[in-house]
Amino acid sequence: MTVDYIIVGQGIAGSILSYELLKKNKKILLIDNNYPNSSSRVAAGLFNPVTGRRMVHTWLAHELFALAHSYYPKIELKLKTQFFHPLPLHYLFSSIKESNDLYAKFSEPEFADWINQNQTANCLTDIHAPLGFLELKQAGWCNVNKLLVAFKNYFEITGCYLQEQFNYEKLYQTVRGWEYGHIKTAAVIFCEGVGGLNNPWFGYLPFKPVKGEIITFKSNKLSLTSIVKQHYWIIPQGNGIFKCGATFDFNQINETPSKQAVNELFKWLTKTLRGSFEVINHQAAIRPTTLDRRPLLGEHATCKNLFIFNGLGSKGVSLAPYLASHFIGYLFSENELIPELNHRRFPLA
Ligand SMILES: Cc1cc2nc3c(=O)[nH]c(=O)nc-3n(C[C@H](O)[C@H](O)[C@H](O)COP(=O)(O)OP(=O)(O)OC[C@H]3O[C@@H](n4cnc5c(N)ncnc54)[C@H](O)[C@@H]3O)c2cc1C
Repeated sequence: MTVDYIIVGQGIAGSILSYELLKKNKKILLIDNNYPNSSSRVAAGLFNPVTGRRMVHTWLAHELFALAHSYYPKIELKLKTQFFHPLPLHYLFSSIKESNDLYAKFSEPEFADWINQNQTANCLTDIHAPLGFLELKQAGWCNVNKLLVAFKNYFEITGCYLQEQFNYEKLYQTVRGWEYGHIKTAAVIFCEGVGGLNNPWFGYLPFKPVKGEIITFKSNKLSLTSIVKQHYWIIPQGNGIFKCGATFDFNQINETPSKQAVNELFKWLTKTLRGSFEVINHQAAIRPTTLDRRPLLGEHATCKNLFIFNGLGSKGVSLAPYLASHFIGYLFSENELIPELNHRRFPLA
């Protein structure tokens, strides 16, 4: 078997990249271990243009959000699966000072695309928001797990999917490219998420994995139809089911759901919701975050035709469509990589 690209990892990064390469008539083989606790399979899929403690619009917000809002609905049609849910996001103020500061900040014209100045006054009847809130536009959530199942099915039907643990020891450089067992390929693109730490060629890069935990809860009385965000967020899933998260733990890098995280989320929910709720699930996974919080893209410094497409951190949903298009432009020599994305900003160990 001969292909143009072997792609390792079917998270949101590898899936969107593979799909876009197929659209360019490239022959690919996508290899994934279908690990249920991967970052993409656990992620809540929130996308939100204004983030962080300082509430600034995210890096490349205009480019990322314009593309994401047009890209995912097209994939829904292609895969005949609904997973993309644009929703208003209500940001709850934590103090009077924060409310004053943010009202002043968001009245600036640069925020006009993200803030709804005509928000409905009483849309959060079941939420305790004594200090008021702001309504953000262009936010929503993507059911990433559902998207990946639909993509896997599509790749299987297309005949380009192999479910197995990629064995780095089986990969050899040849005169024409690379060989993996009996498969010949011109190039290999690694999209292993946090699994990239074990990659013999790219594992030296400064990944800084962060554990995250999410709970799913049931509340028949909560009539919330938007996303609520403060210290944590609540995302309505339909049928009285909601997700709440996500914690950030920089020290305990494992996938074991912890008592501490569930207590933290439970405490915040009790303070924020007016009604009762029942926790029905609790998940933990590891985000493929990097030292400078920027993705890691590009060709290996010394091994030709070995590439990395990783480091999507906590923003895989908003980043993946833009990065895939930018990366393919780079593969086809149509554009240079944005220096902030190029992994070579970190020296080879
Ligand atoms: C709790 C939590 C909440 C999150 N919430 C959000 C959110 O609300 N919004 C958002 O945008 N992002 C969120 N994220 C981050 C998001 O999950 C990541 O940005 C994104 O999923 C990374 O995708 P990826 O494809 O790069 O990596 P991954 O999802 O990790 O995919 C890599 C794939 O490669 C496979 N793999 C690795 N090594 C090998 C190997 N050797 N052989 C075969 N297969 C291999 C893995 O099993 C996996 O299937 C969250 C993450 C966590 C943990």
